[in-house]
Amino acid sequence: QIRVRFAPSPTGPFHIGGARSALFNWLLAKKYTDGKFVLRIEDTDRVRSTKESEENIKAALKWLGLDWNEGIDVGGEYGPYRQTERLDIYKKFTDKLLAEGKAYYCYCTEEEIEAERQALRAQNKMPLYGGHCRNLTPEQIAKYEAEGRKPVIRFRTPCDQSVNFDDMVRGKMSFDSNGIGDFVIVKADGIPVYNYAVVIDDALMHITHVIRAEEHLSNTPRQVVLYEALGFPVPKFGHISLILGKDHTKMSKRHGATSVEQYKNLGYLPEAIVNFLALLGWAPQSEQEIFSIDELIKEFSMDHVAKNPAVFDIDKLNWINAQYMKKIPASQITQMAIPHLIEKGYISDTPDEQEMARLNRFTEVIRDHLSFAAQYVDFADLYYKDDFTVEDDECKAVLQVETATEVITMFKDKLAELTEFTAENIQPIFKQIMKDFKANKGIKLGGKSVYMPIRIALTGQMHGPDLAGLVEVLGYERAAKRIERTLA
Ligand code: GLU
Repeated sequence: QIRVRFAPSPTGPFHIGGARSALFNWLLAKKYTDGKFVLRIEDTDRVRSTKESEENIKAALKWLGLDWNEGIDVGGEYGPYRQTERLDIYKKFTDKLLAEGKAYYCYCTEEEIEAERQALRAQNKMPLYGGHCRNLTPEQIAKYEAEGRKPVIRFRTPCDQSVNFDDMVRGKMSFDSNGIGDFVIVKADGIPVYNYAVVIDDALMHITHVIRAEEHLSNTPRQVVLYEALGFPVPKFGHISLILGKDHTKMSKRHGATSVEQYKNLGYLPEAIVNFLALLGWAPQSEQEIFSIDELIKEFSMDHVAKNPAVFDIDKLNWINAQYMKKIPASQITQMAIPHLIEKGYISDTPDEQEMARLNRFTEVIRDHLSFAAQYVDFADLYYKDDFTVEDDECKAVLQVETATEVITMFKDKLAELTEFTAENIQPIFKQIMKDFKANKGIKLGGKSVYMPIRIALTGQMHGPDLAGLVEVLGYERAAKRIERTLA
């Protein structure tokens, strides 16, 4: 049975990299009929962990569709699933390690440890713990206790061993245990450190595969020696590469949005984010780029996860999102755009039903130009701004062409004659204008000489979405007023 987990520390916004780790684990669980995906919260850093962040992670996972079989909220056989609720469990194992001499109390102060580290660094040696408290006598212990020193607990790392594991992404890994040193497993306040709690949890929760970010690779040898000391089977590890920005530096705020919530708020679709994240490090066998979730489950394999860093290409995400946007109703796009229209001051509230219907028609006109819903505001002037001024010199020049005023006026007159004000009926008007010009004046107008001045008269811009559609959305009154203003 495949049992995987996602074990975030709730210490901040839910990063896109975390979402990718969650996704890879989730996909692996889904691939197997009895696969299980566990959500565990690693909140032993009590200062930095917040409930808000935990809620945020849960909301993001749900939004992405990454449901969990076991874990916080849903429960399961191996709970509790929040580390701060498992302290008594860790304590049992700590007592056992202490009793077996595999761990020991260390009374060295922060200052003493720091002085030792600095001395080692000065000699170009690894800043490992020197072992001062490794073999304290009962008298020494009593003395430290009397001084009121609060001990940490260190793991007695075996010397001269090679620590090996076979990484699903990186292949055979081997570390010298002498490079690990005796590390702290429980802090002076009795709280276990990540490297220790994670081992006990993964073992007790019967996790078979640990897929996580590459930054944890250097933690893994410590975890492996702990598995061995505790007599637990070692799971299979897979360390997935860093995510870099397009400039090949570590992905950070400089590169734009980094949290799942930001992408949600910008109006990206969860299916598109999942599709994009899957391709961050995993290479499908074919050239295919758009994958439904079922296809991902079927195709995904850790064998095709690359070692080299994945580059976060926002243009690619935008392209993928645009593909998914094509498949949803216009009303859904409008809904996602509303908060942005409010934020930019186009509207102050969600529009009433009638206005909403008009807005949905407008969405249909511009939707092919959108990669994500927040881009709606780039087009909102077309709809909302009746009192634009023509500023661009090129636009002004178009309006100064001899035939321009007449073309625009003819357009307005023909709009007035329509019995049904639909894009379908508006579209032929452009051709009719050309015909009329030819018949009445013998002037052969090119399409551009018709479209351009009309578009500028209606929008103040040279380019834009489907003109007939836009005119329909504006309605006769507004279209006519815009034209009059431009011509005035
Ligand atoms: N709590 C760790 C983190 O968020 C989990 C690492 C792991 O998956 O082992 O980075």
